Parts: sequence; C-alpha cells; structure tokens
Amino acid sequence: MADPFRMDGKTALITGAGRGIGKAISKAFAGQGAELLLTSRNEEKLRLAARELTTEGAKCRYFPADLSCMEDIEKLIGWINGIDRIDCYVNNAAFTDFSYPTQTGAETIASLFHTNYRASVLLAQAAAKHMTAKDIKGCMLFVTSINAISALPSQAFYSSTKAALESIMKSFAAELAPYGIRVNSIAPGAIMTDMNSHFTPEKVTELSAKIPLGCIGEPEDIGDAAVFLCSDAARYVTGTTLVADGGYLLRR
Ligand code: NAD
Repeated sequence: MADPFRMDGKTALITGAGRGIGKAISKAFAGQGAELLLTSRNEEKLRLAARELTTEGAKCRYFPADLSCMEDIEKLIGWINGIDRIDCYVNNAAFTDFSYPTQTGAETIASLFHTNYRASVLLAQAAAKHMTAKDIKGCMLFVTSINAISALPSQAFYSSTKAALESIMKSFAAELAPYGIRVNSIAPGAIMTDMNSHFTPEKVTELSAKIPLGCIGEPEDIGDAAVFLCSDAARYVTGTTLVADGGYLLRR
C-alpha cells in the first residue's frame, strides 16, 4: 500500500527556509521525497541550508528575497512564475516585536503587517495562480501561532498579524477548494528557535512547567506536523488549524 505521507514528485516552496522552523519543514519534506524551493532574506544562511539539504540528498533551488520589500516580493513572484511545477506553498517567514498595544508605533505596526501578512498573502495569490493555471491539486500551509488564538499582549501586533493570517487562510481554503487545492494553517506553541533566543534557562524551566507535555517544542515537531498537512495523508483536510503546542493552550 502506498504511504500517504510520502511527497515524491511534489515540489514545495518554503519561505523563511534558512533556519528554525522553515529549515525543519524543508528537511522533513525532503525526507518524504519532495523537491524544495527555498527562500529567505539572508542569502548566506539560505545557501548554507540549501547545501546541507543537497548533501543529505534533497533536490533544491533557492532565491533570496526580503519579504518586507515589495520590489523583492515582485522578483520572487517572477522567479515563481518561471518554475514549471509548485505543488505546495508554505508561508513560514515572519518576525516578532515585543511591545504592548498602546506602546507600538506606526512604523513597527506597518513593518509587522508587511512581512508577516502582506508578503504571505501576495505569495499565496501567486501560488494559487500557478496551481489553477496548471491544474495542480496542490496545497498551502500558513505557519501562524497560538498567539493568533490567544493573543499575547506583550507581542500585540505580531499576534494580530497571525490572527489575520488565520482568517485569510479560511477564505483561500473556501475559494480554492473547487480546484482541489487545500489550504490550512499550523499554530505552533513555544518552539526552540532564534525567535526565542532571549529565553534564559530559568525561563525555559518556568515555561516547560506550564506546558502539559512538559517541554518547549523543537522545530522538527512542526516539520513533521507540516508533512501531515501537506501530504496526501491530509487529503480531506482544508480550512483548518492544527495546534502544535504540547497542550500549552489548555493551560494558558
Ligand atoms: P526564526 O526567527 O528562526 O525564523 C524566521 C525566518 O523568517 C527566518 O528564516 C528569517 O530569515 C525569515 N524572515 C524574517 N523576516 C523576513 C523578511 N523580511 N524577509 C524574508 N524572510 C524573513 O523563527 P522561527 O521560530 O523558525 O519562526 C518560523 C515561523 O514560526 C514564524 O512564522 C513564526 O511566527 C512561527 N512561530 C514560531 C514560534 C516559536 O516559538 N519559535 C511560535 C509560534 C509561531
């Protein structure tokens, strides 16, 4: 019997692929036989990630782009338009800002929405155009956050960019379902990546005690969950959010 988690013959575009969760998703997809199209802002990190994945046997191409910048987004869309086949688009790139709603300035709000939301949806539109034009029954995955579901006041506008993505994910899912294109999101809890490099050992202990499964997650925990949502194993799943947080939302 064919393994529904295998991704042989599928090509996946992954943003923010140079490190952290994006890199783990790339590795997990490659492990299931997918070809990779990697993009991120830092060309050197992207090149190293591509080299590491290629050494491990993956087929990958990459294109650096700063997703806060419209010119770079347009260049990336140009690159996407030149690719013969994209089966899967994973929107993962994002950054956070630590400030409360009343303390956040207009520039920070705009820059959070430009990178975390505008770029994500413009690339989703490009991926949808590509898939519908070529009759590809593909899928999309938005990496959001448990902060989209339970807003964190100390990361107020980051949380609201993720809530906005949760909402637009459902609209993309409804519009694209008749084309056989599935659209979902994954909402990670606390994961050990550069985004949490400010965590002290005391903070790790304190946070781990609040998480029912007893620890902060690893990027691979999200990579494997992403394989499920982007493989045929989730062929009847669309417009939904998979919370991968070790049960944290149960107690927060
Ligand atoms: P990370 O900071 O290690 O990775 C973020 C990636 O996005 C990097 O590759 C970075 O280069 C890229 N990126 C950021 N700004 C960019 C820009 N302007 N242009 C192009 N690329 C840009 O963090 P991570 O934890 O791996 O985050 C990945 C995703 O997971 C993000 O969407 C984040 O919001 C989400 N997430 C993370 C956690 C966590 O605890 N780490 C929790 C919930 C959700």
